[in-house]
Amino acid sequence: MQSLSAFRNALLGWYERHKRDLPWRRTRDPYHIWVSEIMLQQTRVAAVVPYYERFLARFPDARSLAAAPEGEVLAAWAGLGYYSRARNLRKAAAAITEAGGFPRTFDEIRALAGVGDYTAAAIASIAFDLPHAVLDSNVIRVVSRLDNDSSVIEGRTRRRFAQRARQLLDPLRPAAYNQAIMELGATLCLPREPRCLLCPVSRWCEAFGAGTQAELPVRRLRPAAVKLERAVLIIERNGRLLVWRRGDDSARLKGFYELPEPEHLPMAKRGALVGEFRHSITNHQYRFTVHRATVKDVPAGFQWIGKTALGRLPLSTTARKALACAE
Ligand code: SF4
Repeated sequence: MQSLSAFRNALLGWYERHKRDLPWRRTRDPYHIWVSEIMLQQTRVAAVVPYYERFLARFPDARSLAAAPEGEVLAAWAGLGYYSRARNLRKAAAAITEAGGFPRTFDEIRALAGVGDYTAAAIASIAFDLPHAVLDSNVIRVVSRLDNDSSVIEGRTRRRFAQRARQLLDPLRPAAYNQAIMELGATLCLPREPRCLLCPVSRWCEAFGAGTQAELPVRRLRPAAVKLERAVLIIERNGRLLVWRRGDDSARLKGFYELPEPEHLPMAKRGALVGEFRHSITNHQYRFTVHRATVKDVPAGFQWIGKTALGRLPLSTTARKALACAE
């Protein structure tokens, strides 16, 4: 690419003028940036904002997070999904507290539980201005298009794109540069219909020149979606709901409360259908129907919990969606 500094200036100038005002962009506090990056790992920006603000109000620093019971951290996370992120945050908060402060080098940040190469590069650059290039799906898309590179995205291609991202990074302004290239991917260099006419770097973009931008990047075919049907029961008595708590049956959801399903309570008498919702886990797409039901006897492993108390406990996403249907 010709005139790398002109490319960087065009990208950074656009970012300064058009960046979205997001709460984690108003701080350089590494704890805040770390929490935002972990939340953003598998969740959309719009969904993260309210969780981020509530989480920091409840756990303003690593010490308070490390000291909180796991159930309380999971309850604050409930609805964001991928709960190992919350468990790892708490574990890493304990390590940070023990070490006497947030780590300040890429390798130390990378050693925290739940932090991979992308997250370590994001925190190191955004919080400490260290020259580490990020490579997430947005950056892969931008880089593949800038170079009009139609290689299938797999290990070797990712390593080449990582190398390319390092070449493009502005070593003097890594915090702004990394955020700018991710912002470009999130707002203009979109997967299906990139908005090239508004793009600040279109004159450096080989795919735009060749008209191939919508075909890139080339991803491996995903396995076909598996569609499944399930039902969930809302059983209420004197203002309390019948629930059960997950144990070792699910490492991901251990400690979370669930509503019963008909297989758990074959003797339950099903009543009115109150709604339905969809829920996806990897390539499994579930359609849940939500029914009111009654039971005479409650088998071992179930408990009645008041609705207000339940709101303070970690509740699985499917249980939350089912209760929202009933309300
Ligand atoms: S010109 Fe289009 S395809 Fe190229 S980087 Fe800009 S938005 Fe993406």
